[in-house]
Amino acid sequence: MTHSIFTQLVQLGNRKDPVTGSVSSPIHLSTTFAHPGLGQSTGYDYSRTKNPTRDTLEEGLAILEGGVQAIVTSSGMSALQLVFQLFKPGAVIFVSRDLYGGSFRYFDHLEELGLASFAYFDTEEELADLVVAYDKVDGIFIETPTNPLMREVDIVSIAKVSKEAQALLIVDNTLLTPLRQKPLDLGADLVIHSGTKFLTGHNDILAGVVVAKTAELGEKLYWLSNTTGPTLSPFDCWLFIRSLKTLAVRFDRQEATARELVNWLEDEDRIQSTLYAGQGAMISIRLASEEFVGPFLEALKVFTYAESLGGVESLITYPTTQTHADIPEDLRESYGLTPDLLRLSIGLEDPKDLIQDIKAALDAVEG
Ligand SMILES: *Cc1c(COP(=O)(O)O)cnc(C)c1O
Repeated sequence: MTHSIFTQLVQLGNRKDPVTGSVSSPIHLSTTFAHPGLGQSTGYDYSRTKNPTRDTLEEGLAILEGGVQAIVTSSGMSALQLVFQLFKPGAVIFVSRDLYGGSFRYFDHLEELGLASFAYFDTEEELADLVVAYDKVDGIFIETPTNPLMREVDIVSIAKVSKEAQALLIVDNTLLTPLRQKPLDLGADLVIHSGTKFLTGHNDILAGVVVAKTAELGEKLYWLSNTTGPTLSPFDCWLFIRSLKTLAVRFDRQEATARELVNWLEDEDRIQSTLYAGQGAMISIRLASEEFVGPFLEALKVFTYAESLGGVESLITYPTTQTHADIPEDLRESYGLTPDLLRLSIGLEDPKDLIQDIKAALDAVEG
């Protein structure tokens, strides 16, 4: 009988070492492994290719996303780069408009090098128009909910479009995690994560994840990762394993607190609008005026003004000058990423303290 995902996460790495019976996963720092004899291998040769601690983590992540093969990398961006090595020069990629600024910057770079062309869509109608306008499409890349506007993109209907066009569908599942959304079950071919965010959740390691739905894609990515070397270090793999054990309890609590905050924010007249996808722990708010942003950030005492998200410490980010600064201003504002918008990542503090913190900062700024 296979156990529930929560049980599997908690048990990740336990009883892997029959010699010592170690309950916490062993950390194999060795970069190289002795061969029993000529033409023989323990299954491990060199750590760029395969490492036991990384194996344990990758097995857990593949189960979590419901894929065949997971690959962990040194950051979310290196996960994205690994996936884009699947495409040949001249590839055409359609992308959901509101997305992480670093992904936008990378796509812009690939376009400048002449390696791929990117076309952006906001709605399913716009995607349908792109399919008509281009004579081919090789990949579709989406984030849902979008970041920072928290709009939902329907994976099932995008997957239909991508199947018909024979394009690879790649979903960045950083914001909801597989606890709330499993893109591979909904028709996606590949899932990527910034493992830096909810999956590890303590604002203390950088990591990336790619999970493939099929063995064929998994093998290609595994070959590419061995060839180009973006893999995560054994110690960071161990920290990642340890973090996954508490993922479900962290996420449930962070989401419950986010809901409490959303209820409070929606009744607060000094907040112009509250953007929330209905699940998860990310909220964006618009202040009554762009001028309040600086003083508001300075008045907060519990929320930390910093970029990133998903950790146990609540953070507040100003996308305009931080995460999304590389998207040209006109473009940003044209789709609603306006300079009065702030993004909150809800952590594990007491919800009352978080509400009180925002209230006190609004009092200080707007009176
Ligand atoms: C942070 C982030 C990334 C990039 O990941 P890094 O770990 O910072 O390299 C990609 N996508 C989303 C949605 C993110 O939030």
